[in-house]
Amino acid sequence: MSHVDNEVRPSNFIRNIIDEDLASGKHNSVHTRFPPEPNGYLHIGHAKSICLNFGIAQDYKGQCNLRFDDTNPEKEDIDYVNSIQEDVKWLGFQWDGDVRYSSNYFDALYGYAVELINKGLAYVCFLNAEETREYRGTLKEPGRNSPYRDTPAAENLALFEKMRDGGFKEGECVLRAKIDMASPFMCMRDPVIYRVKFAHHHQTGDKWCIYPMYDFTHCISDALENITHSLCTLEFQDNRRLYDWVLDNLNDFQAPNRTRQYEFSRLNLEYTLMSKRKLNDLVVRGLVSGWDDPRMPTIAGLRRRGYTPASIREFCQRIGVTKQDNLVEVGMLEACIREDLNDNAPRAMAVIRPIKVIIENFTKPELEYVKAPVHPNIEEMGVRELAFGREIYIDAADFREEANKQYKRLVLGAEVRLRNAYVIRAERCDKDADGNVTTVYCTYDPETLGQNPSDGRKVKGVIHWVEATTALPAEFRLYDRLFSDANPAAADTVDEVLNPNSLQIVHGVVEAPLANASADQAYQFEREGYFCADRKDSRPGNLVFNLTVQLRESF
Ligand code: ATP
Ligand code: MG
Repeated sequence: MSHVDNEVRPSNFIRNIIDEDLASGKHNSVHTRFPPEPNGYLHIGHAKSICLNFGIAQDYKGQCNLRFDDTNPEKEDIDYVNSIQEDVKWLGFQWDGDVRYSSNYFDALYGYAVELINKGLAYVCFLNAEETREYRGTLKEPGRNSPYRDTPAAENLALFEKMRDGGFKEGECVLRAKIDMASPFMCMRDPVIYRVKFAHHHQTGDKWCIYPMYDFTHCISDALENITHSLCTLEFQDNRRLYDWVLDNLNDFQAPNRTRQYEFSRLNLEYTLMSKRKLNDLVVRGLVSGWDDPRMPTIAGLRRRGYTPASIREFCQRIGVTKQDNLVEVGMLEACIREDLNDNAPRAMAVIRPIKVIIENFTKPELEYVKAPVHPNIEEMGVRELAFGREIYIDAADFREEANKQYKRLVLGAEVRLRNAYVIRAERCDKDADGNVTTVYCTYDPETLGQNPSDGRKVKGVIHWVEATTALPAEFRLYDRLFSDANPAAADTVDEVLNPNSLQIVHGVVEAPLANASADQAYQFEREGYFCADRKDSRPGNLVFNLTVQLRESF
């Protein structure tokens, strides 16, 4: 019955490759990995990679490692290491065994670098950054050999040891692979594989003052973990040459079934930035409240906004995995959460911009309780009891002194049905000095109770309401897109594409049963949208609700 179904995963070109590898006997089982760099929070793009890697491991009864690709200590932080683990688990996945770190292999990597040096395949280079760039050549012109390229192996070995022992300053020298300065692939023009960095590392402390580069580290880490299919995004397509070159030249990795890299296109989402560096800028500059601001495309932000893990997994399934670059509509992500919540979220009533309604012929001294289903289609979710009385709140947008026939809400002299309760009729209203309606005086018909009563009344409109004396005050945070441009990544600065109205805060009321609303439970506020309590700021007595998504697609 649910639209959101993670059981049936469609095939894709990567799964086809895996099927072939299993059929041919190249591999007996599948081992993938998700390799984030702990330099920011995970975003919806990472979710695509997570669902792909962990999803494959699940479906093929294989394994998936979580490996922190931690070779840039200055940009990394233990806070990111922790949030990434939390987000992967929240999405519903569990890695195989312990969390891995590339830094676990720093000793091994050092040994492999020494092996390349001994084979005459790596050398210590003292060109400065500008010279290195100049020697590298361009896409049109081949590069030139570094004057240090032919240093004898024994000398390189001594220099590399001196690098490791702190004998050189940062930027003074690097270790480079000796490949081909005329290669059409820039990454093969004697790439740097180690550099000097006197940086404290969150895992290895001050043990190292040289750190290996990504391209050298990643393939070896994959191979050491017996990863069968190393899945990454298309920008690493050229680097696959280097990935294979490193392994081809190390004695430990000559098995015919060793790890191979496959590339797929990254997720780009309209109106969304997907670079951790740019997202970090938004946080650092205070343009959002943090990595978990509900407007952020981070997993933590989406969670706080009210997205469910199932809706994100469903989205990742719908976008598929290909090699085509594309820009996905935000509507697709919103449709996934809307369908999930429409199917599963309890209903409740909230009045976001309240005006008072006084029902003058309701003269009973006590409140009355009316029943309302928690979910219209799921009887097992039960019923809730809603107070009804002489004073209620309705939304300012649901009343007009006069209106044409299209306006099916409350109008002076006409009737409307209160959802789950009675038909009322507006008689007159009070206004403040600015002409805004403050109170509407009504009468109700006691014979019309119920959600869809067969009372024969031809009342077109149904509006929502909350009884005034039991109503709980609540803050509503109404979100719009963070950016006003569909492709904010293309703008020179974020400032010119930032949507000034991405957050609107209003104060209204919610029905009393929401007193203990939990952040992990999203609601449909009837006729308003899907909301959830804010996990940081909402508590009993000070309710704060985030708009997760509108009821319908609004653009
Ligand atoms: P960013 O550009 O946001 O900094 P990154 O690629 O540097 O991302 P990593 O931590 O290295 O971030 O990414 C971990 C894994 O997630 C990598 O395998 C990467 O290819 C994948 N990934 C990152 N962004 C996306 C995306 N938008 N769509 C799909 N996969 C992604
Ligand atoms: Mg990266």
